[in-house]
Amino acid sequence: MRSVVRKPQCERVCYDAPSFPPAIHSLSIDLHTHSTYSDGVLSPADLVRRAVSRGVDLLALTDHDDTGGVAEAQDAASDLDIVVVPGVEISAIWSGQTIHIVGLDIDVRAPELADGLTSIRHSRGERAIRIAAQLDAAGVTGSLQGATRLAGSSAAVGRSHFARFLVEQKYVRNSDDAFRRYLGTGRAGYVPPSWPDAAQAIAWIHGAGGQTVLAHPDRYRLSPRVMQSLFTDFRHSGGDAVEISGDGRYKSSAQVRLARRFGFALSSGSDFHAPGKNVADLGDVTEIPSGMPAVWQRLRTRK
Ligand code: AMP
Ligand code: MN
Ligand code: MN
Ligand code: MN
Repeated sequence: MRSVVRKPQCERVCYDAPSFPPAIHSLSIDLHTHSTYSDGVLSPADLVRRAVSRGVDLLALTDHDDTGGVAEAQDAASDLDIVVVPGVEISAIWSGQTIHIVGLDIDVRAPELADGLTSIRHSRGERAIRIAAQLDAAGVTGSLQGATRLAGSSAAVGRSHFARFLVEQKYVRNSDDAFRRYLGTGRAGYVPPSWPDAAQAIAWIHGAGGQTVLAHPDRYRLSPRVMQSLFTDFRHSGGDAVEISGDGRYKSSAQVRLARRFGFALSSGSDFHAPGKNVADLGDVTEIPSGMPAVWQRLRTRK
């Protein structure tokens, strides 16, 4: 049990928390972050230390398709004033397109989840080989070695690593440019992914005792009708919560209203990958409107 005296006024988005953890009356919460175990640039321990320095009390590590960093993050947190929630962000297919499902409060040793994530990382490896071959045909050489080097030894290769290689080799000016010109849907280096169904990802997370969060629905560029169909299917598959991300304008957004109608809790996280200008840092999250259930209230993780 933690026995800390909290500053009475929290500097970021904070929540009154009379019961979680006890003795704390104001919490800064960030439930979506990445480390070097996927496409983040900080090791899990450095991520935790940065979160502490920014006043975050409750942090979920949610690497893409990998829980390998959770133990290191929890180790780093053990003598610091922060609680780390074991998490993951699973790449999945819904209605022919990629969506992300965040799992929070998971048992990382649950065999079906662990096997499922292993198979996704395997298909990332195969996709990387095909992406590199297509980039090669488009005149970009050496991208598999480059992306693999940038991913480091602990991460499966993803498009972010190819994007960093394209920036490093000056094919493009920045990561957005890399996706726009080479890696985005329909571009020269695009390979359709073979992720599991969203319902399958949800079942793995539930099998591991976790809460399922539909990640950043605002980023899927769906019409209101299709968004509603996504929420409907998410509910039928047993989905628990919807993430509100972005710049704080979502208080009265369509997603919050939809979440209320569908009975989903809300989650909020920075989706931090790296420190930088114009990107959310740890603890920079969108406030959950009062009166809406928050997913962190359902988490069991304690120190
Ligand atoms: P992957 O899961 O390997 O297909 O890579 C997707 C990841 O690339 C996302 O999780 C983001 O971190 C990153 N990314 C950065 N910019 C973009 C973009 N413009 N479009 C899609 N993904 C992006
Ligand atoms: Mn990412
Ligand atoms: Mn995502
Ligand atoms: Mn993410």
